[in-house]
Amino acid sequence: MLRAPTTNHFRRVTMSNYQPVIGLEVHVELNTKTKMFCRCSADYFGKEPNSQTCPVCLGLPGALPYINEEAIKKCIRIGLALGCKINPVSYFERKNYFYPDLPKGYQISQLVLPIAVGGEIEVENDKGEKTKVRINRAHQEEDTAKLTHQFGIQNSKVKMKRRGLW
Ligand SMILES: [Zn+2]
Repeated sequence: MLRAPTTNHFRRVTMSNYQPVIGLEVHVELNTKTKMFCRCSADYFGKEPNSQTCPVCLGLPGALPYINEEAIKKCIRIGLALGCKINPVSYFERKNYFYPDLPKGYQISQLVLPIAVGGEIEVENDKGEKTKVRINRAHQEEDTAKLTHQFGIQNSKVKMKRRGLW
């Protein structure tokens, strides 16, 4: 014989059973003169689409990136400001994926050994209550191109001028 379950058979689920844990990924463009992995100007606002590009930031075959030392120093400063530990050894990796804003098929990023890890900042609300915010990492990653879609005329554009920023 089957019996209908009583309310004791069901676990009461309310929002008090859960604790929200929110993670944010924040992107920052550093104020360097040149892009992260080439010598193209980083001042791309208001410039012609696809200007300020070179074989490196276009991802042409055989073009090899080189590191912007100024950007590394600024990333270290950000890490220190966030209370992070600066890794004595750090390196870049390729994050492979295909998307039109990434013509070479991979993005230069940092996964295993980012520049800065394990920080913490304290924030205060308008009532004077303080909360600590853990910082997982501060790493560098090249920016992708910008896609612009014009609906109704089936036209999409890729603007490469910001590719290769941080
Ligand atoms: Zn370039």
